[in-house]
Amino acid sequence: MAMIRVGINGYGTIGKRVADAIKLQSDMKVEGVTKRNPDFEARLAIKKGFDVYAGEEEYVKNFDFADMQIKGTIDDLLERVDIMVECTPGGVGARSIEKYRKKNIKTILQGGEKHETCGFSFNSFVNFEEAKTKKYARVVSCNTTGLIRTLYPLYRVFGIERVIATLIRRSADPRDSRSGPINAVEPVLAVPSHHGPDLQTVIKDIYIQTMAVKVPTTIMHLHCIAVDLPESTVDVHQILRLWDNTPRIKFVRGKDKIVSSAQVMELARDLNRSRGDFNEIIVWEDGTHLVGRTLFYYQAVHQESDVIPEIVDCIRAMSGFKGDFTESVAITDKAMGI
Ligand code: NAD
Repeated sequence: MAMIRVGINGYGTIGKRVADAIKLQSDMKVEGVTKRNPDFEARLAIKKGFDVYAGEEEYVKNFDFADMQIKGTIDDLLERVDIMVECTPGGVGARSIEKYRKKNIKTILQGGEKHETCGFSFNSFVNFEEAKTKKYARVVSCNTTGLIRTLYPLYRVFGIERVIATLIRRSADPRDSRSGPINAVEPVLAVPSHHGPDLQTVIKDIYIQTMAVKVPTTIMHLHCIAVDLPESTVDVHQILRLWDNTPRIKFVRGKDKIVSSAQVMELARDLNRSRGDFNEIIVWEDGTHLVGRTLFYYQAVHQESDVIPEIVDCIRAMSGFKGDFTESVAITDKAMGI
C-alpha cells in the first residue's frame, strides 16, 4: 500500500510531536513541515530528516539570511501531500483551510479552531467510521480529548445522566515564556466554559456543565469530574475495570506517592517516554469514588501530547483505512510505545 503523504503546517508544540509520531508509523510519512524562522526547531527538524518549507513566500528570506537550505514554500509542499495537518496557533487554521480547500487537499485542524470551521470534530473512540467519509476534520483540544477518553466508555456501557466537571488548567506550555498568570488563579467566569459545548460536538447528546480555572503551572491540566450514572447497581470496581480495559487511560495511585502532576511527569520521564510526554489520560485509581450513583474522579491531562495518537488515527481514517478504530488505535499505540 502506498504511504500516506502528510504535510504539517506549523512545527511547534503539537506539530513536532505529530511529525515524530508519523515517523514511527509504517503506513504514513512526513512529506514536509513548515517553519517561519530558521530557529533551533527548524535546525532540529532538518537534523531529524524532515524537509522544511517556508510557511509563506515572505518567510523565504529569513532562511536565506541564515543560509539554511529549505525545500521551497508551503505551495510546493501542497503539491506533494495527500493530507495537511494544521498545527499553527488557534485561529490561523481557519485561514489555512481555505487555501487547502482550493487545492482539494484533505485537512486536519486542531482544537484551537472552531468546530464550525470544518463541521466535524473527531475522537478515535467515538466517530472513527464517520471520519472515513470526511475531507476536513478537527481533532478536539487536549482538555476535550481528556474528557472524552474517560467519559465515553461510561456513556457507552452504563449511560450518563449528567456530568459536572471543573478543569484546573495549566496557563502555558513549558516552551512558552510569554503567557501567564505567573502568580494568580484565574477563573473562567462564563458557565459552561467552552469545554462542555466542545465535548458535545463529538458526543452530541451528553449532558455536561464545565467550569475552568487557570493556574500558574506549565506541566498538566487536572480535571475534577462528577458523573451521575443512571443506575445505582454499578460498583466502582466495574468502572475501574472498564477504564483499565480501555486504551489510552492509565492509572496511578496516591498510595504509590503519585500525589500531583509533578510525580506524574516524573513517571513519564522515568518510563523514558519521548520528551517526557504522557499520551494517556492519567486517572487516580484511589481518587475514584462512587457515592450513591455519583462517580467522582480526578484525571491529569498532558496537554502537549494526549491529542497526538488521535491525530494519527484521524489521518488513517481519512485516508482509506479498511479496519475499524480498535485496529487503528492498536497500530498507532504500538508504534508510539503507548
Ligand atoms: P505553538 O505556538 O506551540 O506552535 C505553533 C507553530 O506554528 C509555531 O512553530 C509557530 O511559529 C507557527 N506559526 C505561528 N503563526 C503561524 C502562521 N501564521 N503561519 C504558519 N505558522 C505559524 O502552538 P501549539 O501549542 O502547537 O498549538 C497548535 C494548535 O494545536 C492550536 O490550535 C492549539 O489550540 C492546539 N492544541 C494545543 C495544545 C497545547 O497544549 N499546546 C494541545 C492540544 C491542541
